[in-house]
Amino acid sequence: MEFIELSTDCYYFKSAVNIGYIVNNDKSKGMLIDAGLDSSAAKKVIKHLHNEKLPLTHLFITHAHADHFGGASYLQQKVNVHTIAPLLEEAIMRNPVLEPIYLSHGNFPLNEMRNKFLEAPAIRVDEICSEGNVEEFPEVQIIHLPGHSYNQHGILFRGILYAADAFLGKDVIRKHKIPFIVDAGENIATLKKLKMMDVEGMIPGHGKYETEYKDVIQENILIYETITLEVQNVVNHSGNSGISLEDMVAAMLMKYEVEPANLGAYSLFRTAIAAHVIYLLENGSAGYQIIKGRPVIFSASYMA
Ligand SMILES: [Zn+2]
Repeated sequence: MEFIELSTDCYYFKSAVNIGYIVNNDKSKGMLIDAGLDSSAAKKVIKHLHNEKLPLTHLFITHAHADHFGGASYLQQKVNVHTIAPLLEEAIMRNPVLEPIYLSHGNFPLNEMRNKFLEAPAIRVDEICSEGNVEEFPEVQIIHLPGHSYNQHGILFRGILYAADAFLGKDVIRKHKIPFIVDAGENIATLKKLKMMDVEGMIPGHGKYETEYKDVIQENILIYETITLEVQNVVNHSGNSGISLEDMVAAMLMKYEVEPANLGAYSLFRTAIAAHVIYLLENGSAGYQIIKGRPVIFSASYMA
């Protein structure tokens, strides 16, 4: 896990899941932005900051995905960190079984879905935040970045935006093929907001630090818009018989050549694809009927 300085007092630990780190003016306070997947990631972070004699007093969690707060419980046990998290996301961090629950359509999850990638250990949240400032870190600006998760927030500090999973690095997004989102409209709106921002650079949760971020964000926008278009195409081609939600998921997985290995992986793709379907239903490009016990999606032109 490499420790990289981005600019004065702005750093990150480079890993499959990046962990941000910022220090205040008089070096009395240090804030981690996310905590990595598990205790081994957190252990490395604590050790490194200790060796460098850098302060660790605050922990900000951007959103309630296990890979971003899985290390937080260990951190809280070892260090007295004032923990800040966004409203709603914080409810999941305090009750992490909610993540596999929502991925299981609200059912209590199958035991195999209760793994460290989908369910992190519960943590304490000391301060619930929304967009704005942090009292003890006056230079920090909290930025609302919903879409990938319900109420994800990033941190803007001295011209560097820690963007969480609001956008993905180019290689990462190509690898994911159909990246996880919960709200397609909010996701695009967030990406467009990021593209309009003028900052020194942005660091995504997965991928490398970008100074030419507008270009990477444009590629993200294109990929998500193409997925919405593909979903619309599948609906249009289903004609007057429509297509069930399950067949829609299957059609998209076949088209993108994705083969989820288990229900956990499948549920992430199903949620992402359903986000695009919901977007079409909400904007009136598609409609649905329950036919023979199944929700069936139709193109708007076939809806009477
Ligand atoms: Zn995430």
